Amino acid sequence: MTMTDETKARQEMSEFARGLYNRGLAPGSSGNISIRLADGCFLVTPTESSLGYIGPADIAKLSADGTHLSGPKASKEVPLHLAAYESDENVGAVVHLHSSYCVAATLLPDVNGSAVFPPLTPYQVMKVGQTALIPYHRPGDAKVADAIRDVAGHYRSLLLAHHGSVVTARTLREAVFAAEELEETAKLFLLTHRLSPIQLGDGQIADLCTHFDCAIPDPSAWAS
Ligand SMILES: [Zn+2]
Repeated sequence: MTMTDETKARQEMSEFARGLYNRGLAPGSSGNISIRLADGCFLVTPTESSLGYIGPADIAKLSADGTHLSGPKASKEVPLHLAAYESDENVGAVVHLHSSYCVAATLLPDVNGSAVFPPLTPYQVMKVGQTALIPYHRPGDAKVADAIRDVAGHYRSLLLAHHGSVVTARTLREAVFAAEELEETAKLFLLTHRLSPIQLGDGQIADLCTHFDCAIPDPSAWAS
């Protein structure tokens, strides 16, 4: 990635971070986003800062192995981002949020760990796929990164119990839109939980996957 492209990536991160904050998806100093540049280096939002107020220069740059190169200190949740990139070379951006409905869904006692949300809408199936649950670990604990490494290659969306969501995509734009779609899915799930909502059927899901080229990691977890 050329210098111009890095400048563009910083601009994009600043704008999408503000958008997430303005939608109420990154309250306080929570949430962090990152981009993998073409040369393998990473741009990550800084620690102890609000996503609502990050300028293009207020972003940390890390080497491919995660060493700090320039800018402010990166979020302490960097290991979680690096684990997601390690799992899939096609991942170009990671969005991690503490958004309310996603966290709430992880607090229910009967969550299906390999598909937290049933298939409720076509855009959920297309944009976020199935969502795996990572058991609770203290934020920053290496076990979070280990658990993400185990599943991130298969899933584009994860929930960390009692904590938040992790969404990966090829571009930041796609990852942000998917993170928003995931939060809407969590909201629909909680609105209909225990009301026996009608789910999309196997045939409808297969049709979506064929038409929109999306893979489902564990079809049996959604089998109706
Ligand atoms: Zn977090």
